[in-house]
Parts: sequence; structure tokens; C-alpha cells
Amino acid sequence: MLPPFKNEPLTNFNDPAQRAAFEDALKLVKSRFGEKIPLVIGGERIYTDDTIKDTCPANPDVVMAYVSKGAKEHALLAIRTADRVFQTWKYYDPDARARILLRAAALMRRRKHEFSATMVYEIGKNWMEADADTAEAIDFLEFYAREMMRLHERQPVVDYPGEENNLYYIPLGVGAVIPPWNFPNAIMTGMTSASMVTGNTVILKPASITPVIAYRFFEILEEAGMPAGVVNYLPGPGGAIGDTIVDHRLTRFIAFTGSMEIGQRIFQRAAKVQRGQLWLKRTILEMGGKDAILVDDDADLDFASEQIVISAFGFQGQKCSACSRLIIHEKVYDTLLEKVVERVKKIKTGDTENFENWHGPVSDGGAYEKILEYIEIGKKEGRLVAGGNKAGFPGWFIEPTVIADVAPTARIMQEEIFGPVLAVCKVKNFDEGLKVFNNTIFGLTGAYFGKRRDRIERVRREAYCGNLYINRKCTGALVGVQPFGGFNMSGTDSKAGGRDYLQLFLQAKSVTERF
Ligand code: NAP
Repeated sequence: MLPPFKNEPLTNFNDPAQRAAFEDALKLVKSRFGEKIPLVIGGERIYTDDTIKDTCPANPDVVMAYVSKGAKEHALLAIRTADRVFQTWKYYDPDARARILLRAAALMRRRKHEFSATMVYEIGKNWMEADADTAEAIDFLEFYAREMMRLHERQPVVDYPGEENNLYYIPLGVGAVIPPWNFPNAIMTGMTSASMVTGNTVILKPASITPVIAYRFFEILEEAGMPAGVVNYLPGPGGAIGDTIVDHRLTRFIAFTGSMEIGQRIFQRAAKVQRGQLWLKRTILEMGGKDAILVDDDADLDFASEQIVISAFGFQGQKCSACSRLIIHEKVYDTLLEKVVERVKKIKTGDTENFENWHGPVSDGGAYEKILEYIEIGKKEGRLVAGGNKAGFPGWFIEPTVIADVAPTARIMQEEIFGPVLAVCKVKNFDEGLKVFNNTIFGLTGAYFGKRRDRIERVRREAYCGNLYINRKCTGALVGVQPFGGFNMSGTDSKAGGRDYLQLFLQAKSVTERF
């Protein structure tokens, strides 16, 4: 029997042996720099002349890999292939499908540091963030394997005399899996494994700045025994091949995580029924956030400041769950702000290849420019109290930045910046604070620091977001423990890592036999 699901433990980097093992993994990943990576469609490796030059954000002159770039014809081939393979994969025993995930989890666990080290170079995660990302990917594999086995069991229906009644969960068809770059292992692995373990076939289009980690995962699936063509690895610019995949009549569902703009675009395009299309496409769209932490006048300010800084600046603020709005009761505003600024000034920014650097580069040149522009906007909308500058060369480094005295309606309080920028707003009382907390088009995560029971209960009820935390940071949801996903413009209300998630990739069939 399979042991119950348990979250993957994080690595203790205080242990010199673990540090040394991680250094070895960094060396291994570095030794592959400049490698050529193919597309893989139906098990066939295809090398294109035109490639994605995958560079390191800490040093954009360093090319990690030349990744083959899928064009329209590859997208069409991948869809046709996935459709063909679906005709057999849909009947593959669900428990056997689950076992491919369990084997993949075991393989990733054995090469854990190598996966994490890949993210250190490819997207600038620090060691702990990269380690947590890999642990979450393993969790998704383990969790969804068990979930598929549960859904494959006999489902409870009411007995009816003279008949046998059953309800079966069956797959949907060909799915487009379009993940973001910010949890390039965890989210990509989660969305892909959920799609395939449920019996669907997949076009996996990784984010264009993190295709290497996705390829490493794909290789693991092959090693774990996934039949050719169940997942098809198709890197390529979303702007060029995204519409082709989303629009195609054979695409049955789209699982996307990324920005609100692209999520809305996919939602609209998927709604159009194409000639010859037999279904309404299903969309599972996880989008942006503008997450707030509300601090009341009786909060433990030392603890809150520590948790705020981790929430706002972990992985350079590039988490959908990152705290980007800090709302403080006026009675403790000055004291808490000072503590936050003091703590921010201690953060070490630099190349995360070096364990000592907690705060790395932002993702790429485009994000770098956009974040710096928002800092300029912020300087006009409030008072710069920490950071505000570029932070050294040659990478995309920006100082962790705090802008105080910002109005609730300011652009930096409303628009997702997706970088190390925290806007701080003062409120007169708890009621006003809650109002500001909810004053957003998003609704992903949030946190409240305070001690009064009546207020905590009101926050539990009235704070409108998918993942709410009381007296702790607003990042770091664990698979199975805090199923993850947001409301309103943060997405289609799904909960990754929860018991409802796999049903989004399935349809239920009721079968009655009369004897
Ligand atoms: P993004 O720019 O929207 O890209 C996400 C994915 O969509 C990428 O694979 C991208 O490919 C692809 N894409 C781009 N244009 C497309 C099109 N026209 N059709 C189909 N696909 C297309 O987002 P990102 O910058 O990677 O990720 C950051 C965003 O993700 C933030 O807004 C963050 O809040 C959100 N996020 C949300 C969650 C959640 O659970 N709600 C979790 C993590 C991140 P290319 O890379 O080739 O452009």
C-alpha cells in the first residue's frame, strides 16, 4: 500500500554536507552551459535552426542553452500527435498512470539539487527558494498520483434496485499546458502532471525564459515510463504559437498560469467554437495578484516586520503570492515602517550562485525596465524609504524597494509590478484597513497581523482572497496543506494542490446497467 501523502522536507543548508552537495550540483549544471535542446513531439527529437537563447539573469552574457524554437507547423504537429496518442492513453489504467508520477517523483528527489541548481542559474532563485520550488514539484507528483488513485476508486452513488450504477471520471482530451517562469519547476510540473495523470495528452509550452528546467522534467517523465507523445515538449514564443494552440479545434482544455493580460486573452479566444470543434473548451487560468498584508495596532511588530520582508522580497518579489501592499494601522505605522526598512537594508543582493546572496536578479531585461519604471512612478506617488536603484552589473539586479505614504488608489497599490517593490499605506482604523485590503481587482493571497479575536474572525470572513494567512507570511503555500489559487482577476478559482484540482481535468460519466 502507498504511504499517505507527506510534504517533501526542505534542505537544511546549515549542514556542510548539504552545502557541498549543492555546490557540486551547481558545477554539474554549469558544465552543461551552451547545450542544445530539442523540441520533442511524439517522442521524436526535433532540432530547429532558430533557437531561444536562454541566458542567466545574473549574467545575461552567459548562455545556458540554445533551445529549439517551436513554430506554427510544430504546434500543429504536436496537437495532431497528442490527439492520436490520446486514443490509447485515455484507456491506460489510471493507477498505472499514477505510478509514472510516483516514479518521476523518486527520480526528481534523487536529483533534487541538480533541479534546484538549474533554477539558480536559469531564473536567479536563491538556494532556499530553488530548493522549495523543487520540493513543491515533488509534492505535486506525489499528491496528484494519490488523487488519481482516489478518483479511480468506486465513487459513491445511491443504490437503486435491479441496477448497477457507477460514476467514472474520464479524461477530456488534448490539453495545452502553459506555465509561467516564476515557479518554473513546481507550477510547470504540477500543471503537466495533473493533466496527464488524468488520462489527457499534453502540449507543454514552457515559459520562454525557463525552458531548460522544463526539459529536465520532461526527461524524467520519459525515464519514468511515460509513453511517447503523452506529453509533447514545445518551447516557443507564446506570442507566436500560443494562439495556434489555444484556438485549435482539437484542443480540449487550456491550463495556464501567468499574467492577467494573457489569461484574459486565452479566455476570450478559447470561448470561440471553431469549425468542426465538438466541445466547449475548458480553461483553468491562474493569473496575477496584488497581495496585501494588513497590520493592526496590537500586532507583534518584530515578528510582523520579519514576515513582511520575506513575503515582499523572497525571490525578488516575483511571486504571485508576494506581498506588494502593506497596510498599517496609524498607531503603529511609524514604528513598523522603521522596522521594515531596517530589515530591508540588511538584505544582501547579488548573484545567487553564492549562497550568501538572498536577493538575486529579476527575471529579464523587460521586467527590469518595467520595474524601474514603476519605481519612478512610486517615487511620485509616495515617499521612497528604502532601495529605489539598480543594484550592480552585469545582471538584472534591483534593490529591494519600499515606498511609504501611498494612497490606496495609487497605481503602485493597484497594478501588479512583479518585482521587489513594496507600497505602504496608512489607515485610520481596522475597518478602513479591511476596505483597502479588498480594494483590488485581484484576490490571490493576503495576511493579517493582530491579536483581537473579534477582528481575526472578521478578517477570516471578510478579507476576500483565495489564500488568507493570519499572523504569518502570505507566501509559501504547501501542497495539500494550503490548496492554492485566487479569486476575481487572480484566476478561475481553482485550487492547485487540493482535492478538487484533478476534477478540472476530468469529466464524470454515469453508467447504469439493468440486470
Ligand atoms: P505571462 O507573460 O502571462 O506568460 C505566461 C505563459 O503564457 C508563458 O508560457 C508565455 O510564453 C505564455 N504566453 C504568452 N503569450 C501567450 C499567448 N498569446 N497565448 C498563449 N500563451 C502565451 O506570465 P509570466 O510573466 O510568465 O508569469 C508571471 C505572472 O504569472 C504574474 O502575473 C504572476 O502573478 C502570475 N502567476 C500566477 C500564479 C497563480 O497561481 N495565480 C502563480 C504564478 C504566477 P512566453 O514565455 O513564450 O511569452
